[in-house]
Amino acid sequence: MREKIWLSSPHMGTKEREFVTDVFDSNWIAPLGPYVDGFEKDLATFTGAGHAAVLSSGTAALHLALILLGVEKGDEVICQSMTFSASANPIVYQGATPVFIDSEEDTWNMDPQLLETAIQDRLSKGRKPKAIIPVHLYGMPAKMDEILAVAAKYDIPVIEDAAEALGSLYKGRPCGALGRMGILSFNGNKIITTSGGGALLGNEEDLIKMARFLACQARDPAPHYQHSHIGFNYRMSNICAGIGRGQMLVLPARIAQRRANYAHYVEQLAALPGVGFLPEPEGSSSNRWLSTILVDPVLSRGITRETIRLALEKENIEARPLWKPMHLQPVFAGAPAYVNGTAARLFDTGLCLPSGSNLSIQDLQDVTDLINNLWD
Ligand SMILES: *Cc1c(COP(=O)(O)O)cnc(C)c1O
Repeated sequence: MREKIWLSSPHMGTKEREFVTDVFDSNWIAPLGPYVDGFEKDLATFTGAGHAAVLSSGTAALHLALILLGVEKGDEVICQSMTFSASANPIVYQGATPVFIDSEEDTWNMDPQLLETAIQDRLSKGRKPKAIIPVHLYGMPAKMDEILAVAAKYDIPVIEDAAEALGSLYKGRPCGALGRMGILSFNGNKIITTSGGGALLGNEEDLIKMARFLACQARDPAPHYQHSHIGFNYRMSNICAGIGRGQMLVLPARIAQRRANYAHYVEQLAALPGVGFLPEPEGSSSNRWLSTILVDPVLSRGITRETIRLALEKENIEARPLWKPMHLQPVFAGAPAYVNGTAARLFDTGLCLPSGSNLSIQDLQDVTDLINNLWD
């Protein structure tokens, strides 16, 4: 059996180990320290967000963003349906209800028209949504100008879920810094990783400072332990931040490699009947965190995304269906949803192909040879 080809595995550069050793030598083995401060500066600079708080996960970042916007029990928060469950779970942590919005065809992200329809319908029921969470799926920027225009019209803040989109550009501007706040993830499978971690981004310093305060158990300034807020243990460790600072040095190379993976797949597979890709809309640049294909079983004469996934699995190659939309998840069966069928169709026909920045040319060629053989 060949060595497993993963969907997206960690890819360390040359400095991460040195920085972690430095952390050990200095004994800053804590959820604070110079690498935490430095990683926050790196991220604020790279994204242009102004301010960043590094945290234990992207999920924690989203949870704090909702708290900072005052989301409480009984509230409603609008969320893209086509996403990973972590986009929606923090809404429920707050006792609020997610309202799901289907996708449009050009980016597979939140449909701005359906967003407006949903807001108008919620308003007609006397329920003004407290926040809007669009997602840049697989690194592809959502239609942010349109989404932000609708959000501004109804005066609802936007939290950008940029967990998959570090390094993606929308009209020349980095994803994560386009809404009121944005979140990033450094989970093990993301474009850069700290083993686990996340960040909250924002232009308003008071909000980001408040996030750091809440993430460190909400300790009031006093010699004893005093609390006037409920806190969380959500801060990133200085060890993880050391890895993060090393990963920032190779981020441009990681983006280039993932984009090259996508180019390989297009070159090798685009001619196959029934196989489709998601091109970048004018003005957008995706980090191509994951390369995805759509397979139309009519045009492919019966080959489905499952045919491909199982053929790869037999060769010890990991591939995965696109995210199953949240409005089709058993756990969110009762949540309001505004749907047009796009996300359901993407889930039925879409597949994520191996996309790590550490794949060799031979790995990529093996994957596309196997897929090409299915059409022979
Ligand atoms: C990975 C991911 C998250 C959660 O990030 P964690 O760091 O794993 O908590 C949130 N949203 C999306 C879209 C993600 O892909």
